[in-house]
Amino acid sequence: MTSESSSREFLAQQVIDTCRAMNAQGINQGTAGNVSVRFDDGFLITPSGMAYDCLQPADIVLVGLDGATNDRLKPSSEWRMHCDIYRRHDDAGAVLHTHSIFATALSCLRRDIPAFHYMIAVAGGNDIRCADYALFGTQALSDNMLEALEDRRACLLGTHGMICFHDNLERALWLGVEVETLAKQYWHACQAGDPVILNDTEMQQVTDQFTDYGKQPPRKD
Ligand code: 13P
Ligand code: ZN
Repeated sequence: MTSESSSREFLAQQVIDTCRAMNAQGINQGTAGNVSVRFDDGFLITPSGMAYDCLQPADIVLVGLDGATNDRLKPSSEWRMHCDIYRRHDDAGAVLHTHSIFATALSCLRRDIPAFHYMIAVAGGNDIRCADYALFGTQALSDNMLEALEDRRACLLGTHGMICFHDNLERALWLGVEVETLAKQYWHACQAGDPVILNDTEMQQVTDQFTDYGKQPPRKD
């Protein structure tokens, strides 16, 4: 990473760009949801309840892994979930939380998403779990989330939405769109009948196949 691409201002702008892309791509609306990126000994996170279109890099709040901040603006009310993901998962470089329509609808039914489609593997395993309900912004919500995220990069949050993490903001946004797509496909399949669920052997084959999927040689020019 160059010093520019790892500077606070650069990463804060990337957080804002990711929020705007999340809304533009239809996986979130209004000031719902929040985004963060790991930085120094903590993370940079969206401020609470502010319209993404008005945000400037200086508005993005720096929070330590102990939950402390010296910044003027209040961090997202969900800073505990972001903080706990960075503390628990060393490979988490960015976290994205949304109220996307189909993931949220399934979360209201308190439904896990099973292996109805092989792409479920993008979330790290054979299903995407739905965490038990707890009030937004609470440690109880974060505790429930951590349980649902065991060996996974994404989960639904009971009667709330979904959360996911990845190496960086670009990958976290990509995963957020994938999870919403899977939720939508599962929802539609359930309208027409009982989707057939892939078994553990079939899913292991998917995981093996994914090992070098998309790995292309670099351009020569
Ligand atoms: P914030 O605006 O505080 O990030 O809250 C949005 C949200 O999604 C709460 O769950
Ligand atoms: Zn939320």
